[in-house]
Amino acid sequence: MALFKYPKRTHYCGLLRKGRVGSEVVLNGWVSRVRKFGRLVFMLVRDETGVVQVVVPAKSPAFSVAKEVGPEYVVAVRGVVRARPENQVNPEMPTGEVEVAAEEVVIINESKPLPIPIHDESLMATTSEQVRLRWRYLDLRREVMARNIRFRHAVVKALREFFDSKGFVEVETPYLARSTPEGARDFLVPSRLHPGKFYALTQSPQLFKQLLMIAGLGKYYQVARCFRDEDPRADRQPEFTQFDIEMSFVTREDVMGIVEEAMKYLFKKVMGKDLEIPFRRISWAEAVEKYGTDKPDLRFGAALRTATDELNPYIGADEGEVVRALTIQLPGEKPGKQLKLVKRMVKDFMEANKIGKYAYVACVGGGTASNLGGEAGKEIARILSLTKGEVAIIAAGPYLKVSEALGDLRNALGRALGLAKPGEYVFAWVIDFPLFELDEETGQPVPHHHPFTSPMPEDIPKLDENPLSVKAQAYDLVLNGYEVAGGSIRIHDRELQERILAMIGLSKEEMVERYGFLLEALEYGAPPHGGIAIGLDRLVAVLLNEESIREVIAFPKNKDMTDPLTGAPSKPPEEYLKDLPWLKVEHETT
Ligand code: ASP
Repeated sequence: MALFKYPKRTHYCGLLRKGRVGSEVVLNGWVSRVRKFGRLVFMLVRDETGVVQVVVPAKSPAFSVAKEVGPEYVVAVRGVVRARPENQVNPEMPTGEVEVAAEEVVIINESKPLPIPIHDESLMATTSEQVRLRWRYLDLRREVMARNIRFRHAVVKALREFFDSKGFVEVETPYLARSTPEGARDFLVPSRLHPGKFYALTQSPQLFKQLLMIAGLGKYYQVARCFRDEDPRADRQPEFTQFDIEMSFVTREDVMGIVEEAMKYLFKKVMGKDLEIPFRRISWAEAVEKYGTDKPDLRFGAALRTATDELNPYIGADEGEVVRALTIQLPGEKPGKQLKLVKRMVKDFMEANKIGKYAYVACVGGGTASNLGGEAGKEIARILSLTKGEVAIIAAGPYLKVSEALGDLRNALGRALGLAKPGEYVFAWVIDFPLFELDEETGQPVPHHHPFTSPMPEDIPKLDENPLSVKAQAYDLVLNGYEVAGGSIRIHDRELQERILAMIGLSKEEMVERYGFLLEALEYGAPPHGGIAIGLDRLVAVLLNEESIREVIAFPKNKDMTDPLTGAPSKPPEEYLKDLPWLKVEHETT
């Protein structure tokens, strides 16, 4: 039975230093490790500040209890801080110069043997994510996870501090709302009180933040949860967090400028690094041409080029297709070994991007290696002027598709080959996005960002005759190959907003039905406004050099969008369903 009364903590475990030697302290925490000898028990006692060694000699009145203690037991320890003997000082531990000689040990609560090896990082590395998430509250006891969660807090705090200091106001906007699409499917919540009707969980606060500008708020931010019911993809969460920002009477330079300042503040505050601003600006077209993607990793070179005419004989592009090549220098002494990895990744990325026509050519081991054979490989190496240790990946297909496949591969290879150095952070703005792109399935123009993004004023006359050439007043912030923020200057004119909605295929009725409230508001003195949303999960993950955003979310969903810990999604209790008779759900009667 757990104790409810126990000696209360006077000091934190992880903060004890030599200056405390001689003091009596009471610690409250968990036993990370316990070693029992005939005449001595050693425990590592942990709380949220760290661990300290506790020693219980046989002559201590605490000895008999200490012998009962097991791993992850919750204990109170009363004892005296003393200096460790010279030969037992542990320089690896912040508290390694001291230990606590226990006079009293109280077991506050016991622990069953843990189902996951949280104190052995090499075993944890082989523990499946499903199992880690099933036992997330134990997984979060690991130092690295606790560090991630605290770091995330520090990032949010720094951003709040910065924007507060600039006169921004944090406003909470509804989660239960009318649909505010950002190009994904909504999560729907049935309304018990209004049969047949649903709320949508907001995909972002987009329209509400625009309404706040119309309301005259001027500068807004919010740490907002966003909900999007999309198909599972490697690193997607059905709910994620944005640091959402909107401002009135601004240009895109103003928005980019304040975000740069915010990043500078954040880097100083939480990373202790001085960040150079302004960041480099790259047009979308240049980013795709050079790096294949609108989120290039700029920590290393390796550019793409188009060589359709020269390379076509070897790869056979169809009419209207291009042949593009990515050249990368294999670093280090053992290019042969790295080539194996490259070959595997090329195959994976091309298959994932549905590119059928591709090849690699590598200048390694004094010759050329290529899946097209020696002769073709030599020719291609000559055409591309490959030098020793370089590998080229060639792909044929539609320009954007090929570029994207090679661009994603470039980012991934940069990391895998160590060309992109962890601990280095290179930001850039991608600007001059097209306002529309063509939907592959329907052939209809769809917004590249969202339909509330303003076109470049000088491009407005081109909207009718050449909509795909119209550029948007949109900007994405990329960091080390990831998009960490995206935003735009918005449309503040009803007529133009209706025109854009019509261009993406909405009838007058549909517009009013979906966005009537926004269109109406635009007629009551809407100021020019714009903003941006920082993807907090991704930003924190990149700063910590974690590949997956799940490592920086306390309770994420697994890749299949379920929560192994709580079992969500689950069947609702029968009585809830009975209150929704119009929702024709098939449910078992109990
Ligand atoms: N609402 C947008 C998004 O979620 C961000 C923005 O345009 O400010 O991507």
